[in-house]
Amino acid sequence: MAIQTINPYTNQVVKDFEPASAQQVEKVLQTAEDTFQSWRSTHFDHRAQLMHKAGQELENRTNHYARLISLEMGKPLKQARSEVQKCAKVCHYYADHAQEFLQDEDIATDATRSFISYEPMGVVLAVMPWNFPFWQVFRFAAPALMAGNVGILKHASNVPQCALAIQEVFENAGFPKGCFQSLLIGSKEVDALIKDPRIKAVTLTGSEGAGAKVASTAGQEIKKTVLELGGSDAFIVLADADIDAVSEKAVQARLINTGQSCIAAKRFIIEQSIAEPFLAAFSEKMQKLKTGNPLEDEDIDYGPLARVDLAQELTDQVERSIQAGAKLYLKGGQKDKDSAVFHPAILTHIEKRNPAYEEEFFGPVALVFIAQDAEDAIRIANDSPFGLGGSIWTKDIKRGQELARKVEAGAVFVNAVVASDPALPFGGIKKSGYGRELSYVGIREFVNQKTIWVS
Ligand code: NDP
Repeated sequence: MAIQTINPYTNQVVKDFEPASAQQVEKVLQTAEDTFQSWRSTHFDHRAQLMHKAGQELENRTNHYARLISLEMGKPLKQARSEVQKCAKVCHYYADHAQEFLQDEDIATDATRSFISYEPMGVVLAVMPWNFPFWQVFRFAAPALMAGNVGILKHASNVPQCALAIQEVFENAGFPKGCFQSLLIGSKEVDALIKDPRIKAVTLTGSEGAGAKVASTAGQEIKKTVLELGGSDAFIVLADADIDAVSEKAVQARLINTGQSCIAAKRFIIEQSIAEPFLAAFSEKMQKLKTGNPLEDEDIDYGPLARVDLAQELTDQVERSIQAGAKLYLKGGQKDKDSAVFHPAILTHIEKRNPAYEEEFFGPVALVFIAQDAEDAIRIANDSPFGLGGSIWTKDIKRGQELARKVEAGAVFVNAVVASDPALPFGGIKKSGYGRELSYVGIREFVNQKTIWVS
């Protein structure tokens, strides 16, 4: 894929970028390695001061950064502003808590003293996607840099201006240049980077295919990876739920980021006694959503998908699902075959082996399943290759929590839309990946958890 900014709303190329040359790649790697040697022994107070400044830079120039996000991947401007603000929040969070999360941990043994010392690993490569082009990167960078690591970003080829802007955030905050660098390279160059001895670990957020490729190369090199891949989160509605309120939340959960979120609800599993009225309310609310130009229309609910080929791929998934027996309850679909605009749609009658049963639908298509009862709903929810998030909607909070334990996922929310929070671990099981980001758990992924024993 060429490295370029294409406005997905107009499908016009805005700017082309030359991929980094072999010499530039070498320079970035060596700068990162050299910087690590001094950065690793800086005090937490110093790192925290700079990380707070990065947060302030994002707060002070929210609109500037938000416009780049909307331009390159098409999300409505107000959602892009929230994304930038959330990045500021994660910077402040780790500035405030990293030292406490990584302090020596004494453990009583036969030794005079034995403890765990958390030490940085070195240069970490981050391969990141376009859907939350700032958030996905800051979610990695804030804890990694606070732990004493340095980062190199290989961003998705359709968000080069975001990649460069993130480097600018850290530079403007006063971080040494090699702490965080963006390399504009294609995905074919990633293998060689992983094999370079200066790269110590890799984190990837993106598709299953990209994750498997990166992890297999890293595996051959015996390098640690964290993978945050796709999801097909279940949104389970029990018979006692408030149909009007919950159908509103269902629309919100499916349409997050125009449906292009790993933790967007994708499979709506409804107890049969309320299936009819729920579907009617859900569909009615979906049809009221507004779309338009993400850079100009302030009050829109969804923008175009990030690229025309992604909209075409979604159309293909819907068509294949219908051929396999699914039915369109709400038609929606791509505006035209050369457009990235995709209107919300609802599919029902999805049997096992239908593409909609197995695949992730990364856009505004809701997949609806009818369950006999709560146990059946859990069975359907777990009959998926993915295990990222899920939600359960019921008036019975105690029962909701009991059922939450039965859902095979990295996070289950009871009566709330799944979202990430800096304080809570985030990540999946099954084909959704492994490892965790955020909270004290996330900052410990890229550190050497060293045992020190004193006799
Ligand atoms: P990809 O997974 O292809 O892209 C994510 C990142 O991985 C990009 O930086 C990409 O670079 C890089 N990449 C892709 N292939 C390789 C490879 N073989 N080796 C190393 N790096 C690689 O996502 P797409 O943009 O193609 O989107 C396709 C689908 O992926 C979506 O429909 C969705 O299902 C899933 N996805 C999931 C996301 C999530 O949040 N979990 C986010 C984005 C996508 P480049 O752009 O240069 O190809």
